[in-house]
Amino acid sequence: MTIVVVGAGAAGFFSAIHNKYTHPHDDVIIIEKSTELLTKVTLSGGGRCNVTHACFDPQQLCDFYPRGAKELRGAFHRFSPEDTMHWFESRGVPLKIEADNRVFPVSNNAHDIANCLIHEAKKLGIAIWTKCSIRSITKADAAPFAVTLSNGRTHTCTKLVLATGSNRQGYQLAESLGHTIVPPVPSLFTFKIPDPNLHELSGLSVPAVQIRLSIGKNRCHQGPLLITHWGMSGPAIIKSSAWHAIDLHRANYSCDMTIHWLADYTRHAIEQAIQTTAKKYPKKHLSNPSPFSEIPSRLWDYLVRHWNLSLPDHWGGLTPRHMHLIADRLQSDVFAVSGKGTFKDEFVTCGGVALHDIHFSNMESRVCPGLHIVGELLNIDGVTGGFNFQSAWTTGVLSAC
Ligand SMILES: Cc1cc2nc3c(=O)[nH]c(=O)nc-3n(C[C@H](O)[C@H](O)[C@H](O)COP(=O)(O)OP(=O)(O)OC[C@H]3O[C@@H](n4cnc5c(N)ncnc54)[C@H](O)[C@@H]3O)c2cc1C
Repeated sequence: MTIVVVGAGAAGFFSAIHNKYTHPHDDVIIIEKSTELLTKVTLSGGGRCNVTHACFDPQQLCDFYPRGAKELRGAFHRFSPEDTMHWFESRGVPLKIEADNRVFPVSNNAHDIANCLIHEAKKLGIAIWTKCSIRSITKADAAPFAVTLSNGRTHTCTKLVLATGSNRQGYQLAESLGHTIVPPVPSLFTFKIPDPNLHELSGLSVPAVQIRLSIGKNRCHQGPLLITHWGMSGPAIIKSSAWHAIDLHRANYSCDMTIHWLADYTRHAIEQAIQTTAKKYPKKHLSNPSPFSEIPSRLWDYLVRHWNLSLPDHWGGLTPRHMHLIADRLQSDVFAVSGKGTFKDEFVTCGGVALHDIHFSNMESRVCPGLHIVGELLNIDGVTGGFNFQSAWTTGVLSAC
């Protein structure tokens, strides 16, 4: 019996390895179109590979998936981030949990993860064919599938796993076998904001903002915000890009974004800090000092101008009405988003094979029995932080059940 796995990424390797554990007497072959194995693993997390996230409650873990949360809940009970960590550590790759719960190899070297997977696959006798693209897949009479490669050769197999990632050819193969494809759109990106005065503040950050977009569901996203030389980035923005990936695509990446600059402050605490600064520094210019340690003084200076509130020049000139207006803007400051930028640490595609086409007990297709679909080819994606690899590992394992 032969099991063919198409795609030598995280999900494909995990599927092949676990299929070999489950069916040790079967031949397992990974077919990869490029010359490289595990390309995204080696590039991931800025070369460090954020291999999973230390969130060990499946219910909570699902909250990090804009698409796929419901289907993954049971799956994470069966192969969790804890299992991922144990799998790599027990094969000689020590891992560490960072302050924000992202998990990396202690070596900070993504190649350790890739080499571990390659070593395990070779040890098990899994064949890996590179530079082999799949031209077509047909149902065969003698065996369930006939896979025709770009070199014209055809191979039959009893079980076929599609693990082609967010790749147009993979979508076409899945579609040719009867699956519904949810149109793919990018997720995990930064926002362009057309304001050269803001761009000059590139590198400044604020630890806890809350942001809300004018499109899609009325949902807030909280976290650090980073100013860049084209707009804004940081966890609050990246999360927002994932949860609003489809709405943003439809809106051509153009919308209003409302920022609460001091998400951890009550209204009372904001007003008190403004009053205290006005009392303490009546002769100082309003642009300096910032009343909040969380807002760097250069950003404060920018905000005071950007608000355009006709405020007095000095702190001592502020009336209670002015203080009220400033507090209002700090809690609700509107910026125009005019496009999307890149997020170099992670990128993922939202969309892919519709989840109603898949049995999540073993990732087998409901429309094409014998075919299993895993990883990013599915309409599953998580926010940044190791969640995308976790769904690749989990679906890879389940495809062997
Ligand atoms: C720069 C970057 C950094 C990232 N960092 C992180 C991170 O730190 N943590 C995290 O959780 N996620 C990260 N991600 C997301 C993560 O890499 C993906 O979600 C994950 O790799 C998906 O795994 P996969 O196996 O489904 O697909 P892929 O890794 O894309 O693998 C699919 C494979 O299939 C092959 N293939 C495609 N079509 C065919 C065909 N027709 N025939 C044969 N082979 C084919 C491709 O060449 C590829 O090798 C990052 C992504 C990027 C781009």
